[in-house]
Amino acid sequence: MKKIIFLMIIISLPLYSVCAQQNEKSNQSKGKEMSFKIQKTEKEWKEILTPEQYHVLREKGTEQPFTGEYWNSRGKGVYKCAACGAELFSSDTKFDSDCGWPSFYDVINNKNVITKDDYSFGMHRIEVMCANCGSHLGHIFDDGPKPTGQRYCINSVSIKLEKKEK
Ligand code: FE
Repeated sequence: MKKIIFLMIIISLPLYSVCAQQNEKSNQSKGKEMSFKIQKTEKEWKEILTPEQYHVLREKGTEQPFTGEYWNSRGKGVYKCAACGAELFSSDTKFDSDCGWPSFYDVINNKNVITKDDYSFGMHRIEVMCANCGSHLGHIFDDGPKPTGQRYCINSVSIKLEKKEK
């Protein structure tokens, strides 16, 4: 019997250590501990962003619906991160969602955004952030049109349209 208990302890030790490492990793990837290519202090962000941009991009705020620059914009071009300039969305994937925020059914490149569970305001949503600088962009929902069925619901102040002549 003693042998069995001893064996169980020996077997479970490596398992425990793997779990502990995984917990450590998942904690590291939460919130502000994430490390991004663009690193700035809060003071530096405040110097380059307007107060509204800072609130939405850096404090995960949300602009009022039907008030932003792009919710009903039909301009052609590339929507870039307003904080760091990374290319995020193409006007080709923008659609009228009637939700009051600019909506896209896809990103230019999956590597340019990251998503994260957001449990604020007593609900579960998926937050969308710029993968280059960690700024908050908006949320993603699964009620978008084909071909992806996704709706990237993005704050106008988080993006900047670089127009392309056709
Ligand atoms: Fe960015």
